[in-house]
Amino acid sequence: MAEIRVENLRKSFDQFTAVERSNFTVPDGSFFAMLGPSGCGKTTTLRMIAGLELPTDGQVLLDGEDVTFRRAAARDIAFVFQLFALYPHMNVAGNIGFPLKCQGMRRREIHERVAETARLLRIEHLLSSKVSKLSGGDRQRVALGRAMVRRPKAFLMDEPLGALDAEFRHLMCSELRDLHDRINATTIYVTHDQLEAMSMADTIAVMNSGRIEQIGSPQQIYDRPASMFVADFIGSPPMNFLKFESGLRAGERSVSFRDLTLAVPEVREERAPGPLVLGVRPEHIRLSNSAPVRGRVFGAEYLGTTQIVTVDTAYGRVAARLPSSLSVQIGESVGLSFRSERLVLFDAASGSAIRTANFGDAGHG
Ligand code: ATP
Repeated sequence: MAEIRVENLRKSFDQFTAVERSNFTVPDGSFFAMLGPSGCGKTTTLRMIAGLELPTDGQVLLDGEDVTFRRAAARDIAFVFQLFALYPHMNVAGNIGFPLKCQGMRRREIHERVAETARLLRIEHLLSSKVSKLSGGDRQRVALGRAMVRRPKAFLMDEPLGALDAEFRHLMCSELRDLHDRINATTIYVTHDQLEAMSMADTIAVMNSGRIEQIGSPQQIYDRPASMFVADFIGSPPMNFLKFESGLRAGERSVSFRDLTLAVPEVREERAPGPLVLGVRPEHIRLSNSAPVRGRVFGAEYLGTTQIVTVDTAYGRVAARLPSSLSVQIGESVGLSFRSERLVLFDAASGSAIRTANFGDAGHG
């Protein structure tokens, strides 16, 4: 298997820059997800790594070797697409073994490799089935098998589960991660679906308009978003933002607005006292009669064990994840208290997270 590294990778189409200078390393055997909204440059980055697109600038390194100008077929990397382009006239074994046949491998060896691949994917019982008769999930397994059978150095997957329905996607996520743990293949997985990225990846790069906003573990990205974009993109419902006109300097521990003073984590960076945004995840909010932030309940969405209660406050609408057993009435006046050690502060002008005592340096940048 292989380490994949990209250095200052950039791609422009005429005047338009699809990928700004990107830098990241995917260690050997790691599962790396590129996550972001449609059009943010995920596929273009992946195609440059695969050798299907020439970068405008920068380098792609495979195990430390510069492969930037090496053609796709000579990179020994497998690409798995959303659209599983299988050969309908062949059975499953024929489809999986096809790349080896093209390489001129002997029949007996092809047979062994196909059997081994099918065993890993747990589809041995389907080997003689026609692919046109398979379910979407099984077709995706066959497509994966065709990529795996060559034993490539790494897998690049571009929204491979996008064509499946939601329930099946979830099942395939755990299967893909399980498969990854068994074969330990370096994998880069592109998706716009945060649940896919969060449930499978060791490391996630969150992209926005051609730029990488943050690289970190799923937990770092969720708990310590480096920017308001990341905080808003990850989480359902996303992080709440409360805007404060008054700024904070290094060492300060509370923020005041109108007649409200709120304890916040100590600011650990030198900064001009501009407006700031206080970020709080819905599960870090409680109802409390004595809480200083007050508002009226706008709605309540029942989700089984929890409910999402939305409250209109002077700082905007806030969503709180509360136990379903708690009774709340629409229009009721409530107080909201926040777990101050979980608050994230952002600079309102740049949208970047401010370094604070609760999170230190890790995860920012
Ligand atoms: P999606 O999930 O919708 O595929 P993405 O994050 O993968 O989105 P890309 O496909 O990498 O995004 O596209 C990034 C931007 O580059 C888009 O605005 C797209 O229109 C543009 N782009 C991609 N390929 C080309 C091309 N060959 N010529 C011109 N513009 C392109």
